[in-house]
Amino acid sequence: MIYADAHADTFYEAALKGHDPRAEGSPLHINLPRMRRANQRLQVCSVFTPARYCGIEATSFADRIIDCIDANVGVDFAKVGSRKDLERVAKASSLRIGLIPWLEGASPLAGDMAKLDEFFARGVRGIGLTHNHRNEVADGCGCAEPRNGLSDFGRKLVGEMERRGIAVDCAHLPQPAFDEVMDLIKRAPCISHTGCRALVGIVRNADDAMLRSIAERDGFIGIDFYPGHVLGDAFKPGTRRATCEDVAAHVLHAIKVAGIEHVGIGSDFDGFEDTCADLKHLGDIDNLQRTLGAHGLNDSALERIFGANLLAYLERVLP
Ligand SMILES: [Zn+2]
Repeated sequence: MIYADAHADTFYEAALKGHDPRAEGSPLHINLPRMRRANQRLQVCSVFTPARYCGIEATSFADRIIDCIDANVGVDFAKVGSRKDLERVAKASSLRIGLIPWLEGASPLAGDMAKLDEFFARGVRGIGLTHNHRNEVADGCGCAEPRNGLSDFGRKLVGEMERRGIAVDCAHLPQPAFDEVMDLIKRAPCISHTGCRALVGIVRNADDAMLRSIAERDGFIGIDFYPGHVLGDAFKPGTRRATCEDVAAHVLHAIKVAGIEHVGIGSDFDGFEDTCADLKHLGDIDNLQRTLGAHGLNDSALERIFGANLLAYLERVLP
């Protein structure tokens, strides 16, 4: 079985803290030896920009993370920018693991469409339109209500991303902007990393209507491993620690609502510190596979969830 992950902050952490993503002993959740053991073929690399950066500062911050991705490309990693590249890294014989730079929040574009071409040239093939805060595209899920939907720039951006083969990622995107994107979009959208709101009722998690909207448009939903998304009041004193059982419940719910072909993993590893008890890093991924198997997912379903669905989605979107 191959493994592919739709969202992790590994290279953000590596760029900021100087950790080596290729070293076994690095404090990162994801590192090369663990990727090899998981038979990982592809990692979508979050290019996250904290809220304190905007305009040109956000652009250069994002460039710094992409520099770090580029510095690791070579013997072990290859950048994936097209369906052809994807095919290459998906092969069992490939020695190199695919990496796709992916903006988490559109603030590095600084409201300037010319920057879309610059980031495309640097290999960016997906953009999460917002993070929690407001940016030039829309209000993020952390903004108070009533939230503003898509700006004129945001509406134009969706069309320009689709034209180039850049995935439109609705993680962190609340309503009404989410619904506006669904009305506008012509190609398959995704929610790269989320939990299910039916199980943990926070705005950050996708509700059933959102899950269905993504599935109806032949899109992809990645379930993440952040305890706060998969277990209610996860960090309140007295709450038990989240486990693979909680993550599995969200995977199973998403499958029930959106269908087995639209669900996968967007771990969010290296994007948080307090992990699920038995999913502390990529080396624990077997625990989640076993848990989902025990809940009745057969081998072909597991293959889809842990990699095949994400690769199939990217094949529908990439140039
Ligand atoms: Zn995120």
